[in-house]
Amino acid sequence: MKPAPFEYVRARSLHEAAELLAADPDAKVLAGGQSLVPMLSMRLARPARLVDVGRIEHLAYVDEVEGHLEIGATATQTQVATHPLTLSRVPILSAGIARIGHTQIRNRGTVCGSLAHHDPSAELPALALALDARLTSFSVRGPVSRTADAFFTGTFDTALDLDEVLTSVQFAMPPEGTGWSFREVARRSGDFALVGVGALLHTDDAGVVDHVRISLFGVGSTPVRVRAVEDRLLGTVVDEPALDAAAEATADQIDPTSDAHASADYRREVAAHLVQEALAEAWATTRRKHADA
Ligand SMILES: Cc1cc2nc3c(=O)[nH]c(=O)nc-3n(C[C@H](O)[C@H](O)[C@H](O)COP(=O)(O)OP(=O)(O)OC[C@H]3O[C@@H](n4cnc5c(N)ncnc54)[C@H](O)[C@@H]3O)c2cc1C
Repeated sequence: MKPAPFEYVRARSLHEAAELLAADPDAKVLAGGQSLVPMLSMRLARPARLVDVGRIEHLAYVDEVEGHLEIGATATQTQVATHPLTLSRVPILSAGIARIGHTQIRNRGTVCGSLAHHDPSAELPALALALDARLTSFSVRGPVSRTADAFFTGTFDTALDLDEVLTSVQFAMPPEGTGWSFREVARRSGDFALVGVGALLHTDDAGVVDHVRISLFGVGSTPVRVRAVEDRLLGTVVDEPALDAAAEATADQIDPTSDAHASADYRREVAAHLVQEALAEAWATTRRKHADA
């Protein structure tokens, strides 16, 4: 199919983009186009105007800001995944991005575009929860900053108002020596995941867990941080049975739905398995790092 007619405007600055969006409630931001263009072609989206933010200067950056990895609106997924700061300080982000679609998609698709789009099967929203992200947007009313918890409100829905441009996201850099794991199940390589998990685990020198994050996707209308399971582990000296029990408890903490791709029971069972594997891998890595230190 062909898209319905629309006006295309290339914004030269963030202020211009904000004004264009404020002037027309039927306008939409265009970033890498990897979700929006297929939606236009299928007429699932029919904006009157596309405001292309892709050429605005100084937005395609990856930087360290106050202990956070900050990513600008137009930084592509490939740029972020292969950046030395990401690889050295937030490697789980590189691993998660590597599971998005195919190389060509990651070369054009932006990190902020995926967060703004908020597909519940997408990797990046779950990583935003796991990495205590803050998302900053801009509109004619000025900048707004939100936590990842407040940002993702439902399937393909976020707290962004129609006239806001997501300008950056800050991912917290996990404590030195944190073990991590990113796992997902998809029918074929490159497909959207049926279920996935990002897990981070850090212990002190005595082996007591002092930082843990477990964030699932594909199990609801938003990514889910299983805080009850995290709380079971925090402050304890973990062993394999404790990790297995924590993973089993995951099944009670999520409420997936059935759809054409998988049943709710399947998603619940796979989620528990993935959490078990991910926690075991993250724990093994953090122990190895302690041993090497
Ligand atoms: C074949 C295929 C396979 C894919 N597989 C996966 C996958 O496995 N996992 C996955 O997560 N994704 C997958 N994707 C989607 C891909 O990750 C997209 O790149 C991403 O979802 C959107 O980023 P974008 O920059 O292309 O945004 P666009 O497509 O340009 O925009 C997407 C939406 O977000 C809005 N938007 C974009 N940027 C901003 C901004 N800065 N501020 C406000 N609103 C904004 C747009 O208005 C639009 O509604 C796949 C895509 C394709 C075509």
